[in-house]
Amino acid sequence: MCLVTLRIAVVGAGPAGLDAADALASAGASVDVLDRLPVPFGLVRYGVAPDHFSIRSVRETLAHVLERPGVRLLAGIEVGDVDAGAAVSGAELLAAYDGVVLTYGAARDRHLDVPGEELAGSIAATDLVAWYCGHPDADRDAIEPLVSSARSVVVVGVGNVAVDVTRVLTAPWDRLAATDMPQHVLEVLRDSSINDVHVLGRRGPAQATWTTKELRELGELDGVDVVLDDLHDLDLEPISAALVESDRVVARNVEVLRSWSEHALDGGHKHIHLHFHSRPAELKGTERVERVVVERTTVDDQGSAHGTGETYEVGAQLVVRSVGYRGVALPGVPFDARRNVIPNVDGRVVDDSGSPIAGLYVAGWIKRGPTGIIGTNKKDAGATVASLLADLEGASGTEGDGIVPLLAERGVVPIDLDGWSRIDAAERALGASRGRARTTIHETDALVAAARP
Ligand code: NAP
Repeated sequence: MCLVTLRIAVVGAGPAGLDAADALASAGASVDVLDRLPVPFGLVRYGVAPDHFSIRSVRETLAHVLERPGVRLLAGIEVGDVDAGAAVSGAELLAAYDGVVLTYGAARDRHLDVPGEELAGSIAATDLVAWYCGHPDADRDAIEPLVSSARSVVVVGVGNVAVDVTRVLTAPWDRLAATDMPQHVLEVLRDSSINDVHVLGRRGPAQATWTTKELRELGELDGVDVVLDDLHDLDLEPISAALVESDRVVARNVEVLRSWSEHALDGGHKHIHLHFHSRPAELKGTERVERVVVERTTVDDQGSAHGTGETYEVGAQLVVRSVGYRGVALPGVPFDARRNVIPNVDGRVVDDSGSPIAGLYVAGWIKRGPTGIIGTNKKDAGATVASLLADLEGASGTEGDGIVPLLAERGVVPIDLDGWSRIDAAERALGASRGRARTTIHETDALVAAARP
């Protein structure tokens, strides 16, 4: 518990940032939560699939953090290189606050590094997710023609993001219409001719990183059959059999796959084909992707995949690589380019020599990498805040109003909680005009306009 009012800046208004702000407010600190985007909630708004209503409802809890005394939202403020257009630099934040907690996540995609990956029709799951969630950075002109003209899709990766993408591309209209997706996204998905989604796991079913609830949902979609491409994939090698014995999630996942392999198909007109021991070797096509060359793999005693040289081809006009997210560096802040995280010890950012940088902390995906569920951030952010409070014990709080005077000097007007409330009301009104609970406004200009009194 701190006895003086510490002034802390949290960079990122996603789950990790708001969990950190919550813990700091509970300790009596005064907290400014900055976000590059004009709206709060980060991955809860722009990463969690729109049809995952209960996970997205975490937003209500996070909204309460913004209403806490001592917590102030400063949205639409980019932290970074001021010469390149950012509103403030990390150094300016450090000068204006007792502590700065970086929680800006891991928003970039990873690559497959296979020939043909750059062909039109080959996209990152991060871009597709950004589009269907209505992220201001989503490239509609690039994504919509691809989704509209595809009949068969290959999704690379067998994690929860791959499941989200597969479900959203095949889900029945009424499921999608109940979400807050932007209207244009809903219309493209309604009119899409995608009937086959092939999901490629480079290792076996026991090594898939999806969770059982999410996997099971694929089998519950009306009009969609889930098909195992090769039933031999369920003949587990020793290391996979041992995993089934030792890990309940793996055991349940394999059980779900077995049950699908034993049931007659429902006769759905759409199919999700699950391919294990299958990795993309090449994307082929003239002007855009037409097919994917897939190499069969085996899994060794260490659980690693090895190519067998045996290949087959899958026809696809859209290839979505869902092979993980990665964080990017913030100018002037140390970065571990191998792990794509900010190097830290217990949330304290450290320099090349391993020494903590005074006042600089990190939480969430940019601290630990892109793993865990939304709830994981509470403990993670709590641990970082505990380090910060221990370091600043007895410190006298910084005078002034944080970064606000500097922003005013630069003519930058942040969007505060009232501004967000107006955006919130505008999205509800837009939804109501079409009989929906909410419709996400996706353009930055429209969000900024809606935030104005
Ligand atoms: P992930 O769970 O790490 O899955 C990445 C997948 O990509 C793995 O199957 C991985 O296979 C595969 N992969 C990586 N490199 C590859 C390559 N070069 N070629 C082929 N396959 C490759 O990551 P994610 O799906 O992006 O999810 C990120 C985090 O968000 C996870 O913690 C996830 O649980 C969470 N999340 C949760 C939910 C939810 O709770 N509903 C929804 C979405 C996301 P290997 O294992 O063989 O490397």
